[in-house]
Amino acid sequence: MSLEQPELKRLLKASIQAKETAYAPYSNFRVGAALLCDDGTIIPGCNVENASYGAGICAERTALVSAVSQGKKDFRAIAVSSDVPSPSVSPCGICRQFIREFCSLDTPIYMVGSNYTESDKEVKDDGETMVVKTLEELLPMSFGPEFLGKKKV
Ligand SMILES: [Zn+2]
Repeated sequence: MSLEQPELKRLLKASIQAKETAYAPYSNFRVGAALLCDDGTIIPGCNVENASYGAGICAERTALVSAVSQGKKDFRAIAVSSDVPSPSVSPCGICRQFIREFCSLDTPIYMVGSNYTESDKEVKDDGETMVVKTLEELLPMSFGPEFLGKKKV
């Protein structure tokens, strides 16, 4: 379920813009996320750290919590961005499980680093500027709501 180029570029841009709002005074490691909802809405999220380190929250979960708080629970794709040059920053383990609650296993998760710049060129998984993996690739043999009789993936 890959996205068309204009929608993908819009999602990546939202993720990068979300990164600008990151509250990361301790790690200085900014992360942005953007969730593409079924209705076309994009919900941004950023990492929010805390002086009590363990109280911080990642960008991906911030976006999901924001979306659910707005009554949105159906998503088509997620984008994640960081300041690391390569697109090597992927959702952490907790976020993968959190995403699993709301997204189907074939949901694409697009990752970009600072090597990515918006242009007229086609955005593709080249390993240098953008990488895309499905949720199932990032979280194989996962446990989800259907095991508790809540929904089928
Ligand atoms: Zn995380």
